[in-house]
Amino acid sequence: MERCPGSPRPDMLPEAGSLWLLRLLRDLQLAQFYRPILEELNVTRPEHFDFVRAEDLDGIGMGRPAQRRLAEALKRHRSGLKSKNWVYKIFGGFAPGQKETTPPSDSLPSLPEPDGRLKCLIPDRAVCRGELLGSGCFGMVHRGLWTLPSGQTVPVAVKSLRVGPEGPEGTELEDFLREVSVMMNLEHPHVLRLHGLVLGQPLQMVMELAPLGSLHARLTAPAPTPPLPLALLCLFLRQVAGAMAYLGARGLVHRDLATRNLLLASPRTIKVADFGLVRPLGGARGRYIMGGPRRIPFAWCAPESLRHGAFSSASDVWMYGVTLWEMFTGGEEPWAGVPPYLILQRLEKDRARLPRPPLCSRALYTLALRCWAYHPADRPTFSDLEGLLQEAWPPEGRCVREVMEPGALRMEPGDPITIIEGSLDSTTWKGQNSRTFKVGSFPASAVTLVDPPPATRPVLRGTPARGERHQRNADGDRGKAKLQDAPQARGQRRNVALQRTKGGAECAWGHPPGVPGCSKSHRGRCGFCHPEPQGRAALLPQQLVQSGLPAHPGALPVGPLGRQPLCPGPALNSVL
Ligand code: ATP
Repeated sequence: MERCPGSPRPDMLPEAGSLWLLRLLRDLQLAQFYRPILEELNVTRPEHFDFVRAEDLDGIGMGRPAQRRLAEALKRHRSGLKSKNWVYKIFGGFAPGQKETTPPSDSLPSLPEPDGRLKCLIPDRAVCRGELLGSGCFGMVHRGLWTLPSGQTVPVAVKSLRVGPEGPEGTELEDFLREVSVMMNLEHPHVLRLHGLVLGQPLQMVMELAPLGSLHARLTAPAPTPPLPLALLCLFLRQVAGAMAYLGARGLVHRDLATRNLLLASPRTIKVADFGLVRPLGGARGRYIMGGPRRIPFAWCAPESLRHGAFSSASDVWMYGVTLWEMFTGGEEPWAGVPPYLILQRLEKDRARLPRPPLCSRALYTLALRCWAYHPADRPTFSDLEGLLQEAWPPEGRCVREVMEPGALRMEPGDPITIIEGSLDSTTWKGQNSRTFKVGSFPASAVTLVDPPPATRPVLRGTPARGERHQRNADGDRGKAKLQDAPQARGQRRNVALQRTKGGAECAWGHPPGVPGCSKSHRGRCGFCHPEPQGRAALLPQQLVQSGLPAHPGALPVGPLGRQPLCPGPALNSVL
C-alpha cells in the first residue's frame, strides 16, 4: 500500500546506523538478509530485534537455523551495549518484559494477526494514518488502515510517540515502550490488542481499533445520545473484572483503571486499554512501589497508593470501584472539587467514600464499598468480583400494564424494565425503562419480573438490611443518610438462601413467575413459578436482600454526585 499523502517519512531514529548490522550479518554469512532486514523489517538498531518475531524472519526467507545463529550473535553483540542502551534501560529489570526482550527464536510468544500470521514489527509503509481520535500523555492516536502482506486491510488505531526537540527520551518514551512491551504478550477478549510496532520516527503502536471510542466519552455524550442501559453497564463491569483478573494473573497491575481507559470495540464489548502505567507486581507481597514522583490519577487511587505509592491488584480493585461509580454517574468526575492533597484525608481521616449514584442499586453500591475497603486484604479480588457482580445484577422485569400516572416512570406493556429498587412491602419500585432509558418510580403492580439469562441471573440471597451503613431514601438522597451497622471483613458476608416471604414458597432456584420449562416438582416449591400476585410476593429484588457492607469503619459517602462543595479546582492527575 502506498504511503498516505502527508504521512511522515519512514525516517530512521536519529542515532540509527546500520553498519553494525551489515558486519554482524557478514560474520554469520547472512549478508544477503541485510537489505530485507533493513528495508522490510525496518530494523536499524540491535534493540529493534526485540520486536522482530520468528515469523517476520520467515517472511524474508531466513531459515530457522540461521535465525538461531542470528539470535546468538545478537545476544553477544548486545551484552556490550546493555548498560548504555536506552531500550535496555527501560526493559532491563522489568520482569514480565523478559520475554519481550528475548531475541527472535522459535519460542517467541505469538499473537495471531487478523490473517492468522503473526507480525509484530510493521513496516511504516504498511500503515496509513487518518483522522485524529485523541491525544494523551505520549502523543496522538489516529484512526488508520494497516495493509497486511496479503493485501488485506485492517482498520487500526495508531498511537504515535510525541518526539520532543531532544528526541525520544524521558518518561514518555519509557511508558510508551513499556506499554508496547506489556501489550505484546496480552491476549484476552476484553484487553485491547496490540498488532505491532512501527520503528519509524515517530515510534508508532498499531492497535486494535475501538470504533466507538472511550466509555467515558460515551457516558458523557450529550443528548440526543441516549444513556446506556443499566444492564449493559453491568455487562461491561463483568467484562472489565474478567480482563483485570487476567492481568492480575499475569502479575501485572494496571494503575490507571478508569472509564477513559475503557474502549468500546462494539456496542456490547468493552476493552481495557492504556497500559502506560502498568507495572509488574513484585515480591512476596505482590506490590509495586513507585520509585519517584510520577503522574497518577489521584481521584481513582486507593489510600495506600496515595500514602505510600503502593500499587497492587487490590489497588486496581479500588479503582474498579471508582470506575463503577463513574459508570453509574454518567461519567462524573470522582471527588470533583476536592484538591488532590485532600483526597487522602477525606478517605482516611473522614473515612469518606463516594456517594451512591441514584442509578446504582444498593447491591451494586455495596459491591463498590467492598472495593473501597480501607485495608487492601479486605477487598474482593477480581475473580471474587465476577461472582459478586452476578449476585448484585439488577433484576429484569417486564411492564404488564400502561403507566401514565403523573410523576411515574412511563411505560407500555412489554417494555423491559431494569429494577433498581423495590421492596416486597412497597407498592412503588424504581427502575429504568430499557426502551426509553428513562429512570423513575412506578407502581410495583405494573411490572412482572422475568427470568434473566443464566449468565446474568443473580444468585438470590437472604438477610436484608445488613446493607449500607447509610440508609437513604429511594433516590439515594444523602440528606437522609444515617449510620446503620458495622462492617464485615471479606469473606464474612452473609450468604443465606432466600427464605419464603409473605406466604411465598422457599426458593433456591431464582425462577420468576411462569418460567418456561420449570419442573413440576420445582413448581410446587417455588414461589417464582406461582401466578401473580403470589409470584410477585416471592420475588425479592436482589438489592433488597443483599447485605451491604461498608468498606471501612465509619465510611461516609459524601455529597451529591460531583458537586461536593468542598474545594474548587478539580485535578484528575497530580504529581505524587
Ligand atoms: P494517557 O495515555 O495520557 O493516560 P489517554 O488514555 O487519553 O491518556 P491515549 O491512550 O493516548 O491517551 O488515547 C487518547 C485517546 O484516543 C483516548 O481517549 C481514546 O479516545 C482514543 N483512543 C486510544 N486508543 C484507541 C483505540 N485503540 N481505538 C479507538 N480510540 C482510541
